[in-house]
Amino acid sequence: MTTPICALCEKEITQENDTKEHLIPNAIGGRRKLKGFICESCNNTSGDDWESALAKQLNPLSLFFGISRERGEAPSQLFETTGSDRLKLNLHGSMDIEKPLYSETPLESGSGVQIQIKARSMPEAKRMLQGVKRKYPQVDLNELLDNAKSESSYCSDMLKFNLSFGGHEAGRSIVKSALALAVSSGIPAEICGEATNYLRKEDSEACFGYFYASDLIKNRPEGIPLHCVSIKGCSKTKQVIGYVEYFGVQRVVLCLSDSYEGEDISNTYAINPITGEELSLIVELDLSNGDIREAYDYKKIPEGSVEAAFDKVIPTGMEASFEKEKNRVVNQAVKHAFENCGAKEGEMLMPEHINKLTGLMMEKLEPFILHQLAQSRKKK
Ligand SMILES: [Zn+2]
Repeated sequence: MTTPICALCEKEITQENDTKEHLIPNAIGGRRKLKGFICESCNNTSGDDWESALAKQLNPLSLFFGISRERGEAPSQLFETTGSDRLKLNLHGSMDIEKPLYSETPLESGSGVQIQIKARSMPEAKRMLQGVKRKYPQVDLNELLDNAKSESSYCSDMLKFNLSFGGHEAGRSIVKSALALAVSSGIPAEICGEATNYLRKEDSEACFGYFYASDLIKNRPEGIPLHCVSIKGCSKTKQVIGYVEYFGVQRVVLCLSDSYEGEDISNTYAINPITGEELSLIVELDLSNGDIREAYDYKKIPEGSVEAAFDKVIPTGMEASFEKEKNRVVNQAVKHAFENCGAKEGEMLMPEHINKLTGLMMEKLEPFILHQLAQSRKKK
């Protein structure tokens, strides 16, 4: 067996510099790792940069679908709403105001000011109130704190997702994933000249393009925002073609090689990023040279095709965030109710406690229920 060579810098991969590389980036939920593909130093430099560029572009989708990751969580992200507010969307669908709000309005009588504070948490509110106390020593801090209310409300505006795909860094991450699958299927990186050329040389021509002209996945599971990497080496056309799809909506074809001399080979790896489960997909990569060329020239994106791809998976994201938010709210309500019903821990619940529980639960559940009602009215 020949010693593997790093697909990026062409150094020999030894036991010392070998590294486990995610076939699909961990940042968007990838699981499978492979060794003997790139060296550790390349993995830490260019590999990392490309992946973060891709993960950043796709982060709104990672948050929206609530992907599960092996390492870390998809970072919260600020979005503007259609009502021009700025809100921070968290992984499990909850939202925060961007920053705490503080305002002072002089009273008309001229004998004081009214202060309004909106904080993201009680500790933050306390810190802000201490600031008020420094400015206005006559303020009774305890009284203010006793009257402080923790409130949650729902954003009735839509978040404006600004999704943009593309660019050479994210593009290289996509090409690298296809190349990794080719290499792990037994096609040496050196044969995939189109791919390695693009990955190694800063000013080289991109070897990928978007493809929505037909569905290349023949047994697409309904509603799953799947990730898929597929390759096919063809002895007749001498091509190694690749297909990469993320979240069911970003669909890319690539030509890794046009000097393939080996046997016919195809291989696919796909997952559901919400659960991490592997999917068994049939991908038909019967694309001609002309098809690929046209994809490179943005000619394989029929009108409405990208929207149609989104339409298939968006309801899944809505349901997932609804489920998560429902669980979060119910858990919080139960905790709140038990903590405040007057029963001591470990003590039997008396009828008066139970009477209180329902009311306390409703206090916390109300905003959620009202929001759901409002949403369902909007739909009608
Ligand atoms: Zn290397």
